Amino acid sequence: MSIARFWRETPRRYNLGGSKCTNCGTVYFPPRLVCPECPAHRQSIEKMVPFQLSGDGEVLSYTVVHEPAEGFEMQVPYVLALVKTREGPVLTGQVVDVTPDEVSIGLKVHATFRKLREEGRAGVIHYGYKFAPSEDPEPAAPPRGPAAAVRTEEIGARDRAPA
Ligand SMILES: [Zn+2]
Repeated sequence: MSIARFWRETPRRYNLGGSKCTNCGTVYFPPRLVCPECPAHRQSIEKMVPFQLSGDGEVLSYTVVHEPAEGFEMQVPYVLALVKTREGPVLTGQVVDVTPDEVSIGLKVHATFRKLREEGRAGVIHYGYKFAPSEDPEPAAPPRGPAAAVRTEEIGARDRAPA
């Protein structure tokens, strides 16, 4: 990702700012301007409002990465997980502060902001969200909206670690 694009996206990367359709209640991250879940999409225009994700979630599935992507060399093995947030959206992120054998499906986690990677010799350091185990997990609220409304955070190919 270009540096310009990175900085443009930094606010949402730091605060998990998504959007919510006030018509049907579906939450999106990254934020969307139109709700694809509403029967008539036009109903949702101007119904979308900024929505702050709590960062709480649980591990849906995960993989242990042994072959690092460029910039991750110092971190293998690491755990890359799909995390279902309390509000519904599913995010992809690294799980930190645990060894791979401490991660399991259903593990309660919380988003935390860490260094993601360093880029080459220029030393550009990208920060973003990762997930750490919740110290005192709160009971998960039932998901709102249909399961089909779950959206996966799209990560750029260069951010994606090999599975
Ligand atoms: Zn909607």
